[in-house]
Amino acid sequence: MTSATDQNTFFIGGEYRKPEGSGRITVISPNTEQALGSVPDGTDADIDAAVAAARRAFTDADGWGGWTADQRASAMERLADELDKRAGDLAQAVSAQNGMPIAVAQQLEAVFPQLLLRYYAGLAREHAFEETRPGVLGGSTLVTSSPVGVVGAIVPWNFPQALAAFKYAPGLAAGCTFVLKPSPETVFDAYIFADAVAAAGIPEGVINIVPGGRELGAYLVSHPDIDKVAFTGSSSAGRSIAEVCGRLLRPVTLELGGKSAAIILDDADLDLAKVGEQIFGATLLNNGQTCFLGTRILAPRSRYDEVVETFAGLAGSLQVGSALEPTTQIGPMATSRQRDRVESYIAKGKGDGAKIAAGGGRPQALDQGWFVEPTIFADVDNNYAIAQEEIFGPVLSVIAYDGDDDAVAIANASDYGLGGSVWTSDHDHGVAVARRVVTGSLGINAYLPDPPLLSEG
Ligand code: NAD
Repeated sequence: MTSATDQNTFFIGGEYRKPEGSGRITVISPNTEQALGSVPDGTDADIDAAVAAARRAFTDADGWGGWTADQRASAMERLADELDKRAGDLAQAVSAQNGMPIAVAQQLEAVFPQLLLRYYAGLAREHAFEETRPGVLGGSTLVTSSPVGVVGAIVPWNFPQALAAFKYAPGLAAGCTFVLKPSPETVFDAYIFADAVAAAGIPEGVINIVPGGRELGAYLVSHPDIDKVAFTGSSSAGRSIAEVCGRLLRPVTLELGGKSAAIILDDADLDLAKVGEQIFGATLLNNGQTCFLGTRILAPRSRYDEVVETFAGLAGSLQVGSALEPTTQIGPMATSRQRDRVESYIAKGKGDGAKIAAGGGRPQALDQGWFVEPTIFADVDNNYAIAQEEIFGPVLSVIAYDGDDDAVAIANASDYGLGGSVWTSDHDHGVAVARRVVTGSLGINAYLPDPPLLSEG
């Protein structure tokens, strides 16, 4: 079951099971606007079966529930090996469904899950899951690290494999079991993943997969037999999931949206021949459909025109086309709804008084597919909707600042706080500015996933 074509089952309890309902999810290619195929649409009864299978696996003392950390780590490494074997199929499936340039899918979607699995397998081997500590008042205390239980994992369409792995890799290391609900836009890659799970000898029921829409996600979140929810997606969905979990007193992890700042300091080297790739990765990766991107470009007023020209030059130089072409740098938006959203923000930006410095329309040479030209807005005020709201497309706003204090104040004047970057020839100056930005993580002259993790892979 390795190809991205029609499927008729779900992966539940270690086997491919017939769905309870008759609904189908059809995936439309963002590259061609043609149907790619369909899979069953999950129902509440399918989720019930998946949760029950995950619970059985969790409590099975002769199976996963009784496995040592070493046994789990070995299983995770086998899963990584099985994903390696399917890396080409995974990248192809993701790219075909969501428009991620195939080169990006090959570098991230087909690689990151294995890095995470091997990294967390290593942690599972090192971690003291049980420790006896001498009691302060005499006697001793046995301290155990116990898995939380059955996890409901809900992922978005933009990096479906990597974002699922961010949930199941640490969870498997801890001993949890999973019900994974992929987004309806990206379902086929989940079947390839299921194949790898089965081939790796992960015990039945440890990972169960039921694709479906937001109602199905909501059912999973509030299911009485789920112990924890792990969610990645939009802030609005995250807020409603947090409300439900708050009411249920259910632990929840939320990874939500972003509107990060890329702060260009007055001494930054903007030679695209040297830093073009890094700037692209930090601001436009995956067609702008990446949570951490620095989509607010903060430019010193003294270099404002030069920064606008540099970004306009970058946008104009990018290869826009089918995601499946190896040379493509900007593919289509994942769905027609997503393109509508991006175009509505471009209209809002113009309406608010920002000026288009590059792009702003649809590429003329591409008459099929949900493409948007890489777009650079100049003369943007940080209060404009295009600077405050997550667009999730290849649209950047260049905002002028006067001095470091002003740059930091603008960077922090946002509801979001996920990533960001500082661009400078003086590393220490960059770090000093970065320390003042209230956000999750910042890069200096690049924005990359955690390097120790990569080097250990
Ligand atoms: P979305 O919130 O619409 O959907 C994400 C997933 O949640 C989907 O599987 C969807 O079916 C499900 N869902 C939606 N509403 C739900 C609800 N009320 N209850 C349960 N499940 C629900 O997001 P999207 O449009 O698919 O993805 C894009 C968003 O994800 C962007 O905002 C992006 O920034 C964010 N994202 C964040 C990270 C991160 O690590 N912080 C990474 C990637 C994407």
